[in-house]
Amino acid sequence: MALIVQKFGGSSVGDADKIKHVAKRVIDTQNAGNQVVVVVSAMGDTTDELIDLANSVSDNPESFAREFDMLLTSGERISMALLALAINSLGGSARSFTGSQAGIQTDEVHGNARISEINPARVREAIDEGHIAIVAGFQGFNKETRDITTLGRGGSDTTAVALAAGLHADLCEIYSDVDGVYSADPRIVPGAQKLDGIDIESMLELAAAGAKILHIRAVEFARRHGVDLRVRSTFSTDPGTIVYSSQAGDKMEEAIVSGVATDKGQAKITVIGIPDVPGKAAELFTVVAEAGANIDMIVQNTPTGSDVTDAVSDISFTLQSGDLKRVVEALNAAQSSLGYRELESDDEIGKLSVVGAGMKTHSGVSATLFGALAKAGINIEMISTSEIRISVITSSKQLDEAARIVHTAFGLDGDTEAKVYAGTGR
Ligand code: ADP
Ligand code: ASP
Ligand code: MG
Repeated sequence: MALIVQKFGGSSVGDADKIKHVAKRVIDTQNAGNQVVVVVSAMGDTTDELIDLANSVSDNPESFAREFDMLLTSGERISMALLALAINSLGGSARSFTGSQAGIQTDEVHGNARISEINPARVREAIDEGHIAIVAGFQGFNKETRDITTLGRGGSDTTAVALAAGLHADLCEIYSDVDGVYSADPRIVPGAQKLDGIDIESMLELAAAGAKILHIRAVEFARRHGVDLRVRSTFSTDPGTIVYSSQAGDKMEEAIVSGVATDKGQAKITVIGIPDVPGKAAELFTVVAEAGANIDMIVQNTPTGSDVTDAVSDISFTLQSGDLKRVVEALNAAQSSLGYRELESDDEIGKLSVVGAGMKTHSGVSATLFGALAKAGINIEMISTSEIRISVITSSKQLDEAARIVHTAFGLDGDTEAKVYAGTGR
């Protein structure tokens, strides 16, 4: 008997009919002779709606992090109970569990907690007794504070992978509103093609670059524990995409470019006229780190000035737009000690990345990327690279067009139009 973990995202449980559809699918999996553990997300756009509600009763609800997490975890609890009710009504037998009941322990960081330990004893007990276990995704608890935490937006994927690792599951399936992992977001690039398989390193880079089909922490977890994932649609029988963490993927040919990802959630800060002396960059980024922001790209231009003593330079860096206001305030407060002249910020930027494991051994990828953007008159503001990724910053207005152009330039367009079955893409 195999143990299968199946995760259903928000659009898969968006309304009562969809929940009933998922209930049938899950019962079918059990009837085929498997033990089944199901992880659910909140229905449709519930999490966003809860955030809107919080903002309507408080100016800065996120600063009350404990209560904010308490609120957000309620979305997943609605889905888990409704799915359990639907399964039981169809003649199956389900038991639902919150994250803490399922033994998902995390650190104490509200809003973006990391899983530290998994003790899924109650889940194991339920499936051994013949029940389908349903677990609320996106949440855990911290033993020291005894409080409920959330795993960051999109975090139900991570719950599923963690349970698959903790239960030594035979298979971990992530069900969504598209047939699998595509060569680009099908909502932006209609010519995007579904990939049959992708290596975990490329998937990690794609997720980090903004492809929200999988939560980055889930991909990291899968890599660390050697869990293969199958990403597929709730609304079709397509076998989906296998994300290989185990040696089973070693036979796969490495694509030069597997995919293109876009991220509109970034902003840019430029610190103008900062003294070009040793230690300034450290001072600057200490202020940024203390404001609680993670930075992505950094560019420092060549210093200008009449001699070494009055040389100054400009430093630009990118960060999540949600952190922009806080970091600008912190830098303004530190202007005299840092000694810079002026600060500029821009949240109308977008990041475009091309990813492929074959880049390690092939040249010319940058030339194709920059050439395609130049031909379309799209300006590149910043560039960064890793061994298997090249990213550029453009204006956010041109980002979608840039993704389509670059996808075509790398010969990734397919003959059929990619299908999106549900969801609002919010
Ligand atoms: P769920 O609610 O099931 O977790 P998400 O909305 O988080 O679903 O993720 C699925 C969405 O991810 C798709 O609808 C699609 O718009 C987007 N997406 C972004 N990049 C990709 C990609 N490379 N392949 C497939 N989908 C992608
Ligand atoms: N409901 C949460 C979110 O919208 C978690 C998830 O869907 O994975 O971010
Ligand atoms: Mg998701």
